[in-house]
Amino acid sequence: MIYLDYNSTTPVDKRVVEKMLPFFTDIYGNPSSDHLFGSESKKAVNNSREEVAQLINSKEDEVIFCSGATEANNLALLGLATRQDPNKRHIITSKIEHPAVLEPIKKLSSNGFEVTYLDVDKEGVVNLNQLKEAITSNTFLVSIMSANNETGTLQPLKKIGEITRENGVLFHTDAAQAVGHIDINVDRMNIDLLSISGHKYYGPKGVGVLFVRNRTPRVRLNPIILGGEQEKNLRSGTMNVPGIVGIGEASRIASNEMKINTKNYSNLTSRILTGIKSIRPDMGFNGSNSNRLQHTLNICLPNIDNKWLILKLKNYCFSTGSACASGKDEPSHVLLAMGIPIDLIQNSFRISVGINTTNNDINTFLKDLSEYIN
Ligand SMILES: *Cc1c(COP(=O)(O)O)cnc(C)c1O
Repeated sequence: MIYLDYNSTTPVDKRVVEKMLPFFTDIYGNPSSDHLFGSESKKAVNNSREEVAQLINSKEDEVIFCSGATEANNLALLGLATRQDPNKRHIITSKIEHPAVLEPIKKLSSNGFEVTYLDVDKEGVVNLNQLKEAITSNTFLVSIMSANNETGTLQPLKKIGEITRENGVLFHTDAAQAVGHIDINVDRMNIDLLSISGHKYYGPKGVGVLFVRNRTPRVRLNPIILGGEQEKNLRSGTMNVPGIVGIGEASRIASNEMKINTKNYSNLTSRILTGIKSIRPDMGFNGSNSNRLQHTLNICLPNIDNKWLILKLKNYCFSTGSACASGKDEPSHVLLAMGIPIDLIQNSFRISVGINTTNNDINTFLKDLSEYIN
C-alpha cells in the first residue's frame, strides 16, 4: 500500500512516539496536582508550550492546548462571538473554509450574526479588495484559512493581517494544514487567533492548539467547555499529557526539518506533475502552482471519474479532496468556489506526499495510473 494522502492525516513520527511513551506509564501525574509527581507532568506540558510557541513565534502563555483544530476553530469562533458587544455582529470568512469553520459560523448566523463569504479566484485565493470593502463598523472578526486542505493553495496571510489590523478587526486563521509545513509568524502576520492540529504534521491525533493573542490587542474569549478551569479557564478538562508532549516534539522537529522536507516534497510533486502530463497532456491543475503547499496537488483528468480511479488504483491511498466531506456525495465546495465546472470536479483528485514518500513510490504510481488510463 502506498500512502499519498498526507493532507488527511500523517503517521506519528517515531521520535514523537518515543518522547510520548513515558507519559502513559511512568510520568502519569496530573499536571494540575500540587505534588512533586504532578509537577513533572507540568514541566513537560510547559516544555511543549515552548516548542509550539517557537514554531509560530508566539509567547508561551498564548498557547492553549485542546483536542484538535476542530475544537480550536469552535473555541475561536463561538468563544469570540459570545463575548462581543451587541453592535458587533458581523463576521467575514471565505467560501473555501473547512467545515470546522463553516459549521460554527453557520450556527452563529442562525443566532443572528451577519456573515460575508468572500469569493476566491480560479487559483483559490481570496480577493483582498473584496475583503477591504466588506469590513463595516459592525465587523469584529475575519476568519480565513492559511492553506486549503483540498488544493494546498496558500492565502496572503500577511496582507490580510495588515488589513484587519488597520481596521481594528480581529484575524483568525485555521492553520491546520500550514503549521509545521510553512513558516507561520503570528506577529509578523498580525494573526490574533490561530488553530493547529497535531496529526497534520506528524504528531498524534486528538491534540491541537488555539493560539490566543495576549497583548496588543489582548483577545478575550468565553470558554465553550466548562469545568476545572485548566488552560487559563479557556479549555477545562484534565490535560492530555502524552498528546501534548507529542505535539511539542512534532513542533520541535518541524522547526528544524520543515525546510529540507519542503524541498523534497517539491521534487516529488514536480515528478508527479511531469509524469501525469506526459500520460495525459490535457491534464488540469486545480490551485496555484506558485503559492501552495509543496506536498499537495489537486489534479484533473478530463473524462476520468475520480471515484472509479480511486477504487481501481486500490494499492494507493489518495482522495477526491477532503476526508471530512467524503461519504457525502456533493461536489467539493472548494472547487466550486474556484469556478470549476461540476463535470471537471468529478474528474479531480488530490495527491499529497510526505516524509515516507519515495521516488520509487511515484514511479509505480505513474506506471499504474498510465495503465489504468490506457
Ligand atoms: C484537518 C483539518 C481540520 C480538523 O482538524 P482536527 O485536528 O482533525 O480536528 C480543520 N481544518 C483544516 C483545514 C484541516 O485540514
